[in-house]
Amino acid sequence: MDPSPLFYQAGPALPEISHAQGVYLWDETGKQYLDGCSGAIACNLGHGRNDIRDAMLAQLDRVAFTYRTQFENAPAVALAQALVALTHHHLEKVFFVSSGSEAVESALKLARQYFVARGEPQRRRFVSLRPSYHGSTLGALGVTGYEPLEAPFRDIAIGSLKVAGPDFYRHDDADDSRHVARVLADTRAAIEAAGPDTIAAFVLEPVGGASTGARMLDQTYLEGIRTLCDETGCLLILDEVLTGIGRTGAWFAYQHYGVTPDLLATAKGLGAGYYPVGAVLSRADIVETVMASGGFQHGHTYAGNPLACATGLAVIEAMQRERVLDNVSARGRELKEGLLALKARFPWVGDVRGLGLLWGVELVADADSKAPFPAEQNRFALITVLAKEEGLLIYPRRTLDGVAGDHFLVTPPLTIDAAGIAELLTRLERAMARFDR
Ligand code: PMP
Repeated sequence: MDPSPLFYQAGPALPEISHAQGVYLWDETGKQYLDGCSGAIACNLGHGRNDIRDAMLAQLDRVAFTYRTQFENAPAVALAQALVALTHHHLEKVFFVSSGSEAVESALKLARQYFVARGEPQRRRFVSLRPSYHGSTLGALGVTGYEPLEAPFRDIAIGSLKVAGPDFYRHDDADDSRHVARVLADTRAAIEAAGPDTIAAFVLEPVGGASTGARMLDQTYLEGIRTLCDETGCLLILDEVLTGIGRTGAWFAYQHYGVTPDLLATAKGLGAGYYPVGAVLSRADIVETVMASGGFQHGHTYAGNPLACATGLAVIEAMQRERVLDNVSARGRELKEGLLALKARFPWVGDVRGLGLLWGVELVADADSKAPFPAEQNRFALITVLAKEEGLLIYPRRTLDGVAGDHFLVTPPLTIDAAGIAELLTRLERAMARFDR
């Protein structure tokens, strides 16, 4: 057979999945995998759902695609209303896209256009965290703090002022609250030095995702950033591409902290792996200002098409019907307990952190000094290969910025049951028992 013309990433040939159901996938050889990371933290309802398929087929039978400037689109209106309700009407306007990168990109452009419309064109800079991941398009990449991805494009991406967030695992301040106070003071100083009236928005993930191994922020930090944004006169954009739509046990992770963003980007779990759909949610007055200045100068052909929106709506309705958020909290407690037990057993597990069904496990060469494994050992890849051999999918990464460390995410579908969590932990334990220092 000719070699495949596809190019994604260098690596060995991969098996193909022949079918999937619930939290399990089977490859062509019959090998079964438990989906411990929901694909790429996307398949939040598991695989093979008849209700989602039926909703999609019903929409396909009506019409798959209409263009937003030509026709009203009832599924888009209904999904927008559902999303606004999930924010308790804190965010009242919705702009649909087809991916997380597009959602972040759109939020950046909306923030910029808002300030242009207000007669503050000097507000053209963004602030974001290092490490962080916000997407692969040039704008979203510009606010991303992840060196290997930035390097080839630094000269042409829009760039941002990168600041450190709190690190509750590695800091050497006297205690967590003093650590947060110091990080906030440093951030304030960096913004002062850059010129507060040049800043359009602060962008951050309320719980770190793949780039940080679920690094946690906390209430005091987020409140501090909210205050800093208000004093600076810039907008707060929360990137909930990964955390949104129930991943952390709330519809949006910010709801755990009582800190409200001005703009919010979400995607992955909204289409739940069945169809690409993302959204930017905004404070009403921001959108009104932009629309009064001639409209948002931005858009994508497939954004908010009827099939995408019917899928997103079916996902939210299924989650409400099945009280999936309750399941996330209950299963999240079991997963946390199990991961902490593994940490107690394996000395090279340095940290276990997370919320709901978003958990990160950081691996270290030395638990006392928290020294990471040497990069060339590729430990994050090793644990992932071992897990896959044991029939478990996890989501690995090595952070190179600021702090170093191999880590992996454990993010099963939000519908996983107690037996699934137990099986996940059994397979993970088997893989870890083979992980030789
Ligand atoms: N923001 C965050 C926090 C993400 O985790 C991701 C995807 N990993 C993105 C943005 C980009 O989303 P997409 O891959 O759908 O473009």
